[in-house]
Amino acid sequence: MLVIDGQQGEGGGQILRSSLALSMVTGTPFRIENIRAGRRKPGLMRQHLTAVRAAKKICDAYVIGDEIRSTELTFRPGTVKAGEYHFSIGTAGSTTLVLQAVLPALILANGKSTVTIEGGTHNPFAPPFDFLQKTFIPLLNRMGPTVEMTLDRHGFFPAGGGSFRVEIVPAEKLTGFDLMNRGNIVRKQATAIVANLPIDIAKRELEVIQKKLSFSTDCICYKQINDTPGPGNIVTIEIESESLCEVFTGFGEIGRAAEAVANRAIQMCQRYLKYGAPVGEYLADQILLPLAIAGRSQFHATFMSQHTQTHIDLVQKFLDCRISVDDRQRDGVTITIL
Ligand code: AMP
Repeated sequence: MLVIDGQQGEGGGQILRSSLALSMVTGTPFRIENIRAGRRKPGLMRQHLTAVRAAKKICDAYVIGDEIRSTELTFRPGTVKAGEYHFSIGTAGSTTLVLQAVLPALILANGKSTVTIEGGTHNPFAPPFDFLQKTFIPLLNRMGPTVEMTLDRHGFFPAGGGSFRVEIVPAEKLTGFDLMNRGNIVRKQATAIVANLPIDIAKRELEVIQKKLSFSTDCICYKQINDTPGPGNIVTIEIESESLCEVFTGFGEIGRAAEAVANRAIQMCQRYLKYGAPVGEYLADQILLPLAIAGRSQFHATFMSQHTQTHIDLVQKFLDCRISVDDRQRDGVTITIL
């Protein structure tokens, strides 16, 4: 049994979710200790527990330690079963992070699946729905499967109540790719959404973006939605190039000015545009896992985050692959999977 130290590197939920994903794909049992020891509230929170239980259900796993606040877990996977699944976090915990744990197994399963997840869809410190739908999933589909995501309802922290659906047509195996160049930028778009809040917030955010990124009026749009249980605000900046679409996000919070929310997304976008690399910081750590399952791939990323380094170390424990990092270039790092 593989023993994973949950406090290594980033010491967050990613080590747990990726261990679940890799265990299901490879059939390797594991025990994880010190779960999320690097976080303010260590152990399994509702989002992580939902991910564990979702994984358990999908592959009929034998599990010890799947309780709230648990800091140790044993997971012995069975056979992955395609099917129709519904998971509800019960809080505003991130639905997209729950999906991260089970998607790799389902894109390699023995048939089509449909997964519905309820909770938060646009949470700070997690990929917002839009990032998965526009950035991550198109690249995953390039590896062989056909995955489609539909947002049924936005869910913001702290009220939650969001939901999305994922339709999955699996592939027999994943095929890796090289993603070394961005190519020309073909589309830019900024979108500000407010839920149960004045539309003025969205307009102010877009004004800052227009000014600082020189976006023309046909590149911006705002939406007001009222079907969420609580208030919420998000601003996304999409940069679509010939190779991929990157999404940068600012999350509204009580006490944070609209201008500050926009500035967060602007800063990340500016940093991305300054470097020539196609893969942004968040995408780098997330795309690494399916690419490592596929094998023989290479990508150029703007920045080497601790999440990416932690992922590199973890992935090599489960998979028979070697991952090297070349950080000698001025415009980012090249990650090669052999
Ligand atoms: P952890 O902190 O270990 O639970 O992992 C958080 C995950 O969320 C990592 O895979 C990050 O790449 C991802 N993430 C955090 N913020 C964003 C964001 N703004 N856009 C896309 N992904 C994000």
